[in-house]
Amino acid sequence: MMDANALGESLYGFVRELYPICRSITGPGLRETLAAIGRHVPLALCEVPSGTRVFDWEVPNEWSIREAWIRDGSGRTVVDFRDHNLRVVNYSTPVRARMSLADLKPHLHTIPERLDWIPYRTSYYRDSWGFCLTQRELDALPDGSYEVCIDSTLGPGSLTLGECHLPGQSRDEVLIYTHACHPSLCNDNLSALAVATWLAARLAGRGDKRLGHRFVFGPATIGSITWLAHNEDRVANLRHGLVLASLGDAGGFTYKRSRRGDTATDRAAEYVIARRGGRIEDFSPYGYDERQFCSPGFDLAVGRLTRTPNGRYPEYHTSADDLSFVSPRALAESLAACEEILDVLEENVCYVNQNPKCEPRLGPRGLFRTTGGTSPGEFEHALLWVLNQSDGTRDLLSIAARSGLDFSLIARAARALVDVDLLRPAPALGPR
Ligand code: ZN
Repeated sequence: MMDANALGESLYGFVRELYPICRSITGPGLRETLAAIGRHVPLALCEVPSGTRVFDWEVPNEWSIREAWIRDGSGRTVVDFRDHNLRVVNYSTPVRARMSLADLKPHLHTIPERLDWIPYRTSYYRDSWGFCLTQRELDALPDGSYEVCIDSTLGPGSLTLGECHLPGQSRDEVLIYTHACHPSLCNDNLSALAVATWLAARLAGRGDKRLGHRFVFGPATIGSITWLAHNEDRVANLRHGLVLASLGDAGGFTYKRSRRGDTATDRAAEYVIARRGGRIEDFSPYGYDERQFCSPGFDLAVGRLTRTPNGRYPEYHTSADDLSFVSPRALAESLAACEEILDVLEENVCYVNQNPKCEPRLGPRGLFRTTGGTSPGEFEHALLWVLNQSDGTRDLLSIAARSGLDFSLIARAARALVDVDLLRPAPALGPR
């Protein structure tokens, strides 16, 4: 087993590997990223052609970019896509023109209050072009004539989704969705791409799961909409789900509840995240792909785990969300929290006490200390709680909450009681 330091370094190494790639919601950068994930986990790729109708949306034309620059009157390059892929507005239409600074300025984007940061801007779903630069660079541009070039292609192609399916013993599944469309931005969302990839790889090595796991990697918004449009028949099996994003910064965890707010996913995540000192927030229809999974026509048990949420840190969607903004330690801790949530979901079953009339005798079954007169220890307490509450309607998480005992202790007691046939899983496998 890798220790947390080595694990953190390996996650960080993957973030570093993916950082230079110019991703977008379609195109070669997205495919290159999915290919990198596919070197760690079995990944099925799906290409959905441009123009495909997906609910109220349409898969857009595919975008690719080769070069983009601005040269001043003397031929000196003043902005170059080659030194940072945030420098071109993502999805810019091609352009080749000469123009005055005044005419160029509406196409230049900066962050006025952060003199040395480059903003991240996109022009999805509208035809436009632009460059991003620092305020200091903009202020230094003299009046005069400029030559601009964006050598991009925007035309029919496809949108790529990557999916890693790890079947379980039951048909019930956990969906993990991670957006893979942002260019060189580490926290949003290379951090979660690394965590989700490692999560899948580690789960794949443990083939004895009750629940299946379905990891989907695709662009934000249009990716989850497209996936849902193509997988409506699978939705009934999605018992649980998490959208993972922004898991590498130094902030504490934030779990955002599903629209329903009280699903087994919510209770498992809240249990784990609250114990790690994180915040719990209610659902809101703003954020990442949870908006689609929690739209009323699906209303899935999908919550969202981040550290600092989108838009609540100054580095968000700027060049300052770089390799120095995320740490191996935060990544390793995020992976551990995700694994803990999945473990709780896996074990959180409703059981039925097979000897419900008065207490069964635990001593002869080897489960209770044989010397009388002393008060029972924690494990004995857990046995009594599980037996008393297991009427087929209460899951182990609710028993942990009511007893005040650790979920892991309650789960261990349940396993011990199953082993001596005092407990059986309720016919309806688990809570939704
Ligand atoms: Zn973002």
